[in-house]
Amino acid sequence: MAPTSSDRHYPAGHVFYRKLRRSYPQIVRGQGVHLFDDAGRSYIDGSGGAFVVNIGHGVAEIGEAMARQASRVAYVNGTMFTNEPVEAAATLLAARAPGDLDHVYFLNSGSEAVEAALKFARQYWFERNRPTKHKVLALSPSYHGNTLLALSASARPHYRTLYEQWLVPVPRIPAPYSYRCSCHGRGQLCPTCTGEALELAIREEDAGTIAAFIAEPVGGSSTGASVPDVDYWARVREICTRNEILFIADEVLSGAGRTGTWSALEPYGVVPDLIVMGKGITSGYAALSAMIAPRRIIDVVANGSGALQHAQTFSHHAVACAAAVAVIEYIERHDLIGRSARMGSVLHAALASLATLPNVGDVRGRGMLAGIEFVADKATRAPLPRSMHFAETFAEAALDAGLVVWPSVGQADGTNGDIIMIAPPFTISAEEIGEIVSRLRLALDDTLDA
Ligand code: PMP
Repeated sequence: MAPTSSDRHYPAGHVFYRKLRRSYPQIVRGQGVHLFDDAGRSYIDGSGGAFVVNIGHGVAEIGEAMARQASRVAYVNGTMFTNEPVEAAATLLAARAPGDLDHVYFLNSGSEAVEAALKFARQYWFERNRPTKHKVLALSPSYHGNTLLALSASARPHYRTLYEQWLVPVPRIPAPYSYRCSCHGRGQLCPTCTGEALELAIREEDAGTIAAFIAEPVGGSSTGASVPDVDYWARVREICTRNEILFIADEVLSGAGRTGTWSALEPYGVVPDLIVMGKGITSGYAALSAMIAPRRIIDVVANGSGALQHAQTFSHHAVACAAAVAVIEYIERHDLIGRSARMGSVLHAALASLATLPNVGDVRGRGMLAGIEFVADKATRAPLPRSMHFAETFAEAALDAGLVVWPSVGQADGTNGDIIMIAPPFTISAEEIGEIVSRLRLALDDTLDA
């Protein structure tokens, strides 16, 4: 067959790559915050991949723990048996979960755990003889995953458009994203910033039809590390409780210490009904996610149909759970949550120096999670036109400068908006943070020159 224009970009080999028109450096080794490719280049992993690698690369004891479990017994089915790492990982996660959330259902990806939590919320009301409670409420912008129910809950048009007919309707309220809020900082009077918007949406939809409200306690890539006001989640909690709506905290990205506390909700002193975790709980050494629930909710199903209707072959996986146990023990032994908070302050102080640069509209975040929002006009906050592909060009320029960052787009109005996320391993040093900032400056120069 004659080569087509895309063949020119197509690397040799048989991998169906995530992006089909670029070639990929082959990474052969990772150590701490550094990655090394087969051509001898090194990169600082400034985003921990996709906000995953919290303890750093190349920690041999995690691989050893996984190998020990794999050679003992790698897999048993979750409907038939339990195993030691599943029990231990559940105990560790339950001890760190807020309030009475102390039972852990393991899955493999964040999307699957979100899917399970939403289905569980529906099943809970159904088995309480409240079958009309089926709707999910969510924020906009928001991201909860790419399977169809999780995508339904997500307000990210560029992921959704192709599948719109397959998605279920999800009523939304604006996310607490102060840089883009129409109140322009009026704060205490603004229904979006206070959470009052949720009350209004529930009244409109009818609480008797709503099963759950799902939200990220600190924004991930969907709002570029926006941190809601101190009273926001207490208000949401009160509204959900009074209206008999389950509050699901999606901590897939923000959890496991990423924002300087084990869960991002912790400083708000609020207990959700369900919490969803993923990414950092194994620091990327295995694919594992978790839905954590309290007995008060599980008991309805335990005394009813007897099982969550969400079966997956690789749930409760022994080797993945062995990775979680080893990672959580490593985090504990090295006080890496404390380190995320401490080095997070160093990171934010260093990134603040970028605020005066051209097109940098806002720099924000908490702990080891930061977002840099780029704009066309700093005074009006007008976004750059999507046709410029600013965030993507910036990420490629950063990679050329030896720095991995996470680009995210569309936050300003669904189409336009350019954010770069920084989320390095918690083990990063002050010197390496300085190096990230230098490489960000280089990448910005190159992007503006492009
Ligand atoms: N929820 C949030 C908040 C996320 O950031 C993500 C992934 N970026 C997901 C859910 C989905 O996780 P996964 O990609 O592992 O399916």
